[in-house]
Amino acid sequence: MSVYDRLKDAVGAQGYSQDRGEIAPHLEEWRSKYKGHTQLLLKPATTAEVSAVLRICQESDTKLVTQGGNTGLVGGQIPLHGEVLLSTTRLNRIRHLDESGMTLAVEAGVTLAEVQRAADDQGLLFPLSLASEGSATIGGNIATNAGGTHVLRYGMTRALVLGLEVVLAGGAVLEMLRSLPKDNSGYDLKQVFIGSEGTLGVITAASLKLFPKPEVAVTAFAAVPTPAAALKVLGQMQHATSGMLSAFELIPRIALEFVIRHIDGTRDPLSARSSWYVLMEATGGKNANLAASFEDGMAAAIAEGTVSDAVVASSQSQAAALWKLRESISESQKREGASIKHDISVPVAAIPDFLARSTPAVLAILPGARPVSFGHLGDGNLHFNFNSPEAGDDAGFLSKWDEVQQVVHDIVKEFGGSISAEHGIGAMKVASLPRYKSHEELDVMRALKHAFDPKNILNPGKTVPPVLRL
Ligand SMILES: Cc1cc2nc3c(=O)[nH]c(=O)nc-3n(C[C@H](O)[C@H](O)[C@H](O)COP(=O)(O)OP(=O)(O)OC[C@H]3O[C@@H](n4cnc5c(N)ncnc54)[C@H](O)[C@@H]3O)c2cc1C
Repeated sequence: MSVYDRLKDAVGAQGYSQDRGEIAPHLEEWRSKYKGHTQLLLKPATTAEVSAVLRICQESDTKLVTQGGNTGLVGGQIPLHGEVLLSTTRLNRIRHLDESGMTLAVEAGVTLAEVQRAADDQGLLFPLSLASEGSATIGGNIATNAGGTHVLRYGMTRALVLGLEVVLAGGAVLEMLRSLPKDNSGYDLKQVFIGSEGTLGVITAASLKLFPKPEVAVTAFAAVPTPAAALKVLGQMQHATSGMLSAFELIPRIALEFVIRHIDGTRDPLSARSSWYVLMEATGGKNANLAASFEDGMAAAIAEGTVSDAVVASSQSQAAALWKLRESISESQKREGASIKHDISVPVAAIPDFLARSTPAVLAILPGARPVSFGHLGDGNLHFNFNSPEAGDDAGFLSKWDEVQQVVHDIVKEFGGSISAEHGIGAMKVASLPRYKSHEELDVMRALKHAFDPKNILNPGKTVPPVLRL
């Protein structure tokens, strides 16, 4: 029996496809930057089937790439070298919700939006929130340690995971689906798989931490003269609301213009133009008088000149309209043509200096490019992006990606930052990682990879740089 026949047998007739039409959408990612190929798409429906698949892969030295919702932005989920592709989308059961313990056990292929809905149905909150949440899976979120808009208050995905079920390269199942807020019984192995981008094992289920659903949300869109003013407003609003800010997003004028131009039903919420804006949200209980604290903070910022104009949403639909402006930036940027993107973080207080240093450095390489730097200011995380000049030649512009990336990442390093704040390393940054991480850190990463996947069958060539032989 051939290896492919054994794999097909392991998952049953519903569990695989060799149909080109069905496989095609799995081979290209959102930005069309990476295109892959494969002869076999596996769609296991149970942990036992994943285990059988990995046992066969290990025995036969068959390489395998795991894919969830295929929304990853660094090519990690694409079979670039003809690997077998394992889709988790049929691992889609909600296993258990513990209302009083505020925990939820779900399988890896459940979408983030479904996880949020399951919590919401019980009056609870799962606070991870990404523009890709309708397609991204919880397994993918965990494998990438996704961030999103509410990290400021609730942390990255890592902070929301209590337990995991993981299938190892040889098929062994690590049953760690605990829902314990406290567990100091030796190494916390689940942490190794969070952010491992499919290189150490296949996550099949997770136990997640839920929160009480805030009763009140105050959302505002404010014009600020500069990123330095935005930073000041962040501090002012954190103090005014006693740390109740749940989001604080920086938006440049050009991003707002892109959104208004390309996304139906959007408009500028303020009458006067400003170079920069912040979208902020605070959430809490109905007796905390949050709206009054929030408005006091805004009034103080306006009096000081750190905010020049602002609108505070007076209804849920107004708040949703403000959020739509932020969440549509990536989509509208795509419709504006080619863009070179960086997902970087620096210490929060360094953001204005970082922008002042790195923007002209990029424009020196890409004259006429349009800077569109936006993102999670409260976490020090910017999507430091550049769109091609309006009448630009996209291919010529994109050919500069590596050169630009190195200049930006070198400045990030000088600021003590990270070349990947939330999207991961995947295929995109694996070659440059040795420039920014110490030999010692890389050696430990390689040792972990070897311990969990000695035959290098899981997502080979991604995330973990090979040793350079001189
Ligand atoms: C419009 C848009 C907005 C986005 N916004 C954000 C954002 O704000 N913050 C953010 O962090 N990301 C964001 N992303 C990136 C992306 O949505 C996240 O990385 C998400 O967590 C990926 O989930 P997925 O299910 O699509 O994973 P995939 O893209 O399928 O896979 C991503 C990686 O995880 C691995 N993987 C997937 N599932 C498993 C599993 N079960 N076990 C082991 N490995 C697995 C894959 O091998 C791959 O390396 C955005 C993407 C888009 C398109």
